[in-house]
Amino acid sequence: MRRIAILGSTGSIGVSALAVAAAHPDRIEVVGLAAGANASRLAAQVERHRPRVISLAADDGLAAAQAGMSSPARAGIEHAASGAAGLRAVATHPGVDLVLCATTGTTALDAVLAAIEAGKTIALANKEVLVMAGGLVMAAARRRGVAVLPVDSEHNAIHQCLHGRPAGEVRRLLLTASGGPFRGWSAERLDGVRPADALAHPTWRMGRKITVDSATLMNKGLEVIEARWLFGMPADRIDVVVHPQSVVHSLVELCDGSVIAQMGITDMRLPIQYAFSYPDRWDSRLPPLDLAACGRLEFSPPDPERFPCLGLAYRALRGGPALPAALNAANEVAVEAFLAERLAFTAIPAVIAEALDDAEGEAPADPVRLDDVRRAHARAIRCSRLRITELQSRR
Ligand code: MG
Repeated sequence: MRRIAILGSTGSIGVSALAVAAAHPDRIEVVGLAAGANASRLAAQVERHRPRVISLAADDGLAAAQAGMSSPARAGIEHAASGAAGLRAVATHPGVDLVLCATTGTTALDAVLAAIEAGKTIALANKEVLVMAGGLVMAAARRRGVAVLPVDSEHNAIHQCLHGRPAGEVRRLLLTASGGPFRGWSAERLDGVRPADALAHPTWRMGRKITVDSATLMNKGLEVIEARWLFGMPADRIDVVVHPQSVVHSLVELCDGSVIAQMGITDMRLPIQYAFSYPDRWDSRLPPLDLAACGRLEFSPPDPERFPCLGLAYRALRGGPALPAALNAANEVAVEAFLAERLAFTAIPAVIAEALDDAEGEAPADPVRLDDVRRAHARAIRCSRLRITELQSRR
C-alpha cells in the first residue's frame, strides 16, 4: 500500500492524482491533502478520500472546508492546520510514505525539504522547487537516501527511458516541447498577444501560470534546469526539440547513438501513476495510444529569436548557483503582470534578462545556502517589479 500526501490537491495535477488513487483503492491510501484557497473542493475531496491530515493556505478557508464536510469525514481528520505550518504537517505526517508536490510556484519548498528530512519519497510535479533550490534539494535527498521521482511528463518520460541504465551509457537528454499556441506566429503578431490567447494551450490542460510559461517557452527552460538536477546532467547535454503533437514525451540518446523515446496519450494520470507505482508498473484503464490516428509526428528546433526565454534559462543554469532562483522569481512576477494586462507578452523575456543582469552583479556564494537562494529570489522580485512599473509609466 502506498500511503500518500498531496500538496496542491485541488489543482489540475492534484485532481488527476486523486483520480489515480480512486482507480487503485487497493494500492493507494490518501493520508494527507493540502490545498491553497479552494475550500469547497478540498471538502469534497476529504468526503471522498478520507485523509487524516489536511491544510489550507488560510484559517478562514480551513473553517469553511470543515463546515462543508459531513461529521464522519470531519471525525477522520486527526490534524488540520493552515499556512506554512499546515503544508509542513501534511508533508511530514508519520502515516505518509510518499509526498506528491503539485503546488505552483515556490510555496512548497520548505515543506518538500521537511518531507525529505522526514524520509518521505518525493514525487515532484512542481518544477519551481528544483529551479530555485535544485542543488540543495537533491543534496538533502541523497543525504537522507530519499528518492525524488519526476511527475512532469517530460522528466517522467526520461526517467522511464533511463530505468536502471548506468550513467556512462547516456550521452544526451532530449526534452520535447509542444511549442505552445504561438509556435508559427511572427514577432509582430507576438507583440499583440493577450492573456486569453496565451491561455489556450494546444495539447495540455494546465494551470494559468504554466500555460503562459508554455507559450513563452520558459516552461521548457525551467524543465531544462529541472532535468539538470533530477538526472545530474550538465546543461550542454540537455537539448530541446519542438514536437507539436506531444506524443513523444521525451527521449534519451545513448552512447552508441541509439535513441529511446517514451510515448503516450497526453494525460497526466499516466506519469502520476508511474511515480506512485515505481519501481513497479500497474495496469491502467486509460485509453491506449493510437499511433495510426496520430498521423504525422513533427520535430523542429526551437526558435531562439522569437522565444528568448529558453536561452535565458540556459544562461541562468550556466551562470551560477543563485541565478536560476532569480530567473524563476522574475518570471513569476512578469507572468503575473502579463496576466493582469500590465506587461506585454514580448516584454516578459526583457524583464527576466534584466533580473539576471542584476543577479550576476552579486558575488555568488559557494557552496550556495538556502538563505542565498532566498535572497536572490527576493532581489529578482524587487528588480522585476521596478522594471515593470517603469515600462508601464512609458506606455
Ligand atoms: Mg512538462
